[in-house]
Amino acid sequence: MNTLDSSTKYQELIKTIKSYNGESSLDSLHKAFEFASLAHSGQKRVSGDPYIIHSLETANILASWKLDIDSIIAGLLHDTVEDGGATKEDLIKEFGENVAFLVDGVTKVSDIRLIGSEQDEFVENLRKMFLSMAKDLRVVLIKLADRLHNMRTLSALSVDKQKKIARETLEVFAPLAERLGIGGIKGELEELSFKYLYPEDYKKVINLSKPYYKKVEKSIKVMTHKIYRTCAELGILIEIRARKKHYYSLWRKLERIGIDWDFNKIFDIIALRIFTDSVKDCYAVLGVVHRIFKPTPQLGISDFIAQPKPNGYQSIHTRVFGPDNHIVEIQIRTFKMHEEAEHGVAAHWAYSERKSKGKIIHDLVKSENIKVSVDKLQWVRQLAEWQKEIKDSGEFLEAVKFDALSHRNFIFSPKGDVYDLPKDATPIDFAAAVHSGLVGYIKSAKVNGKIVPLSYKLKSGDVCEIEKTKNYKSPTKDWLEFVRTHAAKKAIVQS
Ligand code: MN
Repeated sequence: MNTLDSSTKYQELIKTIKSYNGESSLDSLHKAFEFASLAHSGQKRVSGDPYIIHSLETANILASWKLDIDSIIAGLLHDTVEDGGATKEDLIKEFGENVAFLVDGVTKVSDIRLIGSEQDEFVENLRKMFLSMAKDLRVVLIKLADRLHNMRTLSALSVDKQKKIARETLEVFAPLAERLGIGGIKGELEELSFKYLYPEDYKKVINLSKPYYKKVEKSIKVMTHKIYRTCAELGILIEIRARKKHYYSLWRKLERIGIDWDFNKIFDIIALRIFTDSVKDCYAVLGVVHRIFKPTPQLGISDFIAQPKPNGYQSIHTRVFGPDNHIVEIQIRTFKMHEEAEHGVAAHWAYSERKSKGKIIHDLVKSENIKVSVDKLQWVRQLAEWQKEIKDSGEFLEAVKFDALSHRNFIFSPKGDVYDLPKDATPIDFAAAVHSGLVGYIKSAKVNGKIVPLSYKLKSGDVCEIEKTKNYKSPTKDWLEFVRTHAAKKAIVQS
């Protein structure tokens, strides 16, 4: 690579920004490009590429998420302090407090090490990350863009390093992307980690799944055709795309008890995604689909439009019998919902910005906007709160691991409110999530209308109801043995 490549990449970046940012001034972007080029001059990545290519690619990823200009500038500059000899003062002077804060935040969280470091150090870094995140979510978006480019170029590193970085990505960054509702990034991070971390399983899944993808592809073609035709007759505008399941999530499913590598038990190896312009059309399309293909009575419909998942995900999922009686999953959503599912928090900014045309973007992304987004992601706030309270780093790590990074289930209240709880959470965890005070009034719990023991492990989709005692009754310490969330533990201990 030579300087020509970096200027090509820079032109690409400008083109992308102009596509959504109109004709706003890009003077500070030019300045940042020159600053970063100088700071990294002569530096090379292990791949042999000039270092500035990494800065440009990180910025390009952020621009593809339509982020504001400060984030993109911070993306260009993100390694100039750690690797390029610049100081925070230099950045304040040249680019202002906002950009300097973002770069500083990214620099601080750049060192999360899972393996080969003392636990305390790892926890300290997680702590820092959640703190900066609570202040400004863009720090994490820049960090994710940085990590995504590092994962895309991981082949240049030694096998040891590959595995270490891939594990960290799979354990911290992919779940983080999921929690922020950025499905597109989560998928790519998992896929890349899988390849480097479990190369044998990766190859096995690819080889064994080939004939099944082929088989389903045929049905999908026929179905797509029929749905397009019927919708056209009814005057409903749609777009259909087939979504191939990622190998990593396919592998996770195949390994599940009850599935045991039986591909015939996986219905969404390829799913059909139907996009519409409005919510009304989503339901109309659902009607069309069920008229052409019989829904499967056992597997049912999930309506995440009426009841979005806590990370904001919206879509209708249904499973139908396709040609040859294959069961096929169909997901129906609006284009806007799709963009939000792929880009998560990033999409929220993009939308609020497009609505207010004519204003300079960096004026719009002020703390107010960011606060709104953080409020939506209540767990971010929670973690920031706890990190203040919890002094013991081991305890903080536990709280983070279980509450933020582990697999989540969605539990409903009888009124239909949805709570987002970790795997194996119990009705007591549910009660604590509803209100910490409720834990002292638990008489019994019902799940889907039936009384269950308080140690019952809730599953996604369960409707949980807490029967209350009249008077306060101190929770028993035995509950500590099976509750999963920090909120529940705290409610029990402090009572
Ligand atoms: Mn970097």
